[in-house]
Amino acid sequence: METEARQFHCPNCNADLKFSPDLQKFVCEFCKGEFTEAEAIAYMNQQDAFASQFDDGSQQTPLPPEQTPTDSQNAERTRFEEESRLYSCPSCGAEIVSDANTAASFCYYCHNPVILKGRVDGMYRPSMVLPFAFNKDKAVEIFMGWAKKKKFVPRDLVSSGQVEKLTGLYVPFWVADSSTSSYMEGLGENVRSWRVGDYQYTETKYYKVIRDATINYEGVPADGSQKIEDDLMEAIEPFDYSQARPFNMAYLSGFMADKYDVDKNQVFPRVRERMYNNNNDILQGSTHYHVIKNKRNFNRIDSLTFHYMLLPVWFMTFSYKGKLWEYAVNGQTGKLAGELPISKSKLAVTCSIIGTLIMLFFMIGGYLIT
Ligand SMILES: [Zn+2]
Ligand SMILES: [Zn+2]
Repeated sequence: METEARQFHCPNCNADLKFSPDLQKFVCEFCKGEFTEAEAIAYMNQQDAFASQFDDGSQQTPLPPEQTPTDSQNAERTRFEEESRLYSCPSCGAEIVSDANTAASFCYYCHNPVILKGRVDGMYRPSMVLPFAFNKDKAVEIFMGWAKKKKFVPRDLVSSGQVEKLTGLYVPFWVADSSTSSYMEGLGENVRSWRVGDYQYTETKYYKVIRDATINYEGVPADGSQKIEDDLMEAIEPFDYSQARPFNMAYLSGFMADKYDVDKNQVFPRVRERMYNNNNDILQGSTHYHVIKNKRNFNRIDSLTFHYMLLPVWFMTFSYKGKLWEYAVNGQTGKLAGELPISKSKLAVTCSIIGTLIMLFFMIGGYLIT
């Protein structure tokens, strides 16, 4: 067995061990433990066996194999195909889905005219939809209320022609329900310090910390659209999935939808990272130590289901000085996200006004002295 290349860890406290030629043993500088090579190897093997029960990052989507659709699912898919329309944007390649009665005229992304391409393949039929909770007027009001309060915003951004482009867009999301196992071990450190006369006392106490938990998730979302920034979609969370309904074409009437171009296997690493980071935070948060040293976290996904769900977003892009700015309003809660470009000309005008004021001030000051 190749053991020389591996770092041994202390069986007491998990800190790195060092070989002491004097003692002919492996010693821990942290807890002063001493171990023979056999003891160190035994601990390493025990740790390896333990770690192998968790995910080292190689875990693939633990999804059940795709089942052949039932007759009623097939019928729903066929109906979806017949009732849907697919538009595509020759300029940016966006593909827009609408129902047969809602014509898309411009691309929600780059604002160029779109062309009708046909129908949408039944496999893209969503399983759930979270309906819009408010109309466009309200979305415009939210956007204007936000943008108008800010300084140095380009005038075009808050013009009626621009906010007219706010599009009620159903964004495709993969929403995961999952059961995970999470384990954390380490040394909790608490430090206490006090003074008696001329002496300052510091007491450091260490505790072995172990946390072992099953953590379940409902509704961890990841958007399935390449065109829309992931950060932007995360910024308008959360959505209340209890309001989600089984998909019905009627919800699309008057709105646009995206069809996913990132499949569930591609979003899996992103969803997994969010759950693992959250697990680690939960376990750490369940302790009351100032610091946890020699910490190790282990995680694993025990089961996972993805729902293909459409989520309501009022979406708008704004092209300014060669850059495309994206804005999104959560169509359920009204939470808004996006960055505002700063209009240099407005900034310059304000600066020169301030500059003039200061100059005047000095001049007046100057007159007073003479
Ligand atoms: Zn130790
Ligand atoms: Zn486009």
